[in-house]
Amino acid sequence: MAILKANAYGHGLPEIARYLDQHKLPYFGVANVHEASLLQTTGVQTPLYLLGPTFPDEREEVVVRGWTACLSTLEEIRHFASLAQKHQKPVLAHLALDTGMGRGGFLPEQLSDALNLLANTPEIQLAGLGSHLPAADEDPEFTRKQFNQFDQLAQSLQTHKLHTNKLFFHLSNSAGLLDYHSDTTNLVRPGLMLYGISPIADWQSSLQPVMTLKSRVSLIRTLPKGHGISYGRSRILAKETPVATIGLGYGDGIPRNLNQEKAHVVIQGQKLPLLGRVTMDQIMVDVSSLPSCQPGDEVEVFGSNILASELATWANTIAWEVFTSITPRVDRIISP
Ligand SMILES: *Cc1c(COP(=O)(O)O)cnc(C)c1O
Repeated sequence: MAILKANAYGHGLPEIARYLDQHKLPYFGVANVHEASLLQTTGVQTPLYLLGPTFPDEREEVVVRGWTACLSTLEEIRHFASLAQKHQKPVLAHLALDTGMGRGGFLPEQLSDALNLLANTPEIQLAGLGSHLPAADEDPEFTRKQFNQFDQLAQSLQTHKLHTNKLFFHLSNSAGLLDYHSDTTNLVRPGLMLYGISPIADWQSSLQPVMTLKSRVSLIRTLPKGHGISYGRSRILAKETPVATIGLGYGDGIPRNLNQEKAHVVIQGQKLPLLGRVTMDQIMVDVSSLPSCQPGDEVEVFGSNILASELATWANTIAWEVFTSITPRVDRIISP
């Protein structure tokens, strides 16, 4: 299941979806009905899976469009069943299990109630059992326990009478699929690693970043010693400095709280330090070490030279947030 929520992690939903559609995956995972509708307009054929719950007034659309829902409550099962009856159309659904995430799903001890109800609800075609990992990149011991518990619950399903012959069992996000083993799962749900960033540093060398966030140098000016740079004048030049102005800022999704000691961009393959605060539309960098720098030069903010995960550390955040913060005014361009 390719995870395409949040505009394909900021990469551009239609472009990523059309590309992945050629690979005939079992599912595209989206956050909610709104994202499913957007994705449907791109004309992709891959079945759509809703990772989150649905409001009662959204469920009719789920049934009519044939999207796959994940179920967390008996109330959802009953409501979907009645809508399936109304439309004379089976509902495709997975059971969500809460093995530690605390966000959705049946608790393990509620699973048999859900299965018993489903056994008497032929309108719902159970197609899978899924759970989610809250700490696969932080707590291996807890995560291994979750895997064991999930495997046991998945195996216990075989004793239940279900209106289906093939079930998907899925637990892993990127970190789960990189670092853990399961005896039962036959589906994984990678998000971040699909876009070439590993949540676990050791695996980064196996991946290649998909997106490069680029801008261009708009001005180069030599400013005197003692001159301030940007809002708040947090940076005062210690010596005369050639300063490049670059045409993007927090209005494009660059975190405003970048660490001033560590943050840099790459121009002509060279790392150049950020000067002063990020403004809405522009940033400034010190180009003393790159005399050949010209207005018009391409600037990498993140990509292969600066990983989105590295930029994230300069702003006390995570690569997922860096990606999903890129605003609509940034053009998504597919390189040939
Ligand atoms: C977002 C999400 C994923 C993908 O997680 P990554 O860490 O980006 O791989 C997988 N499963 C669920 C339920 C999610 O919400």
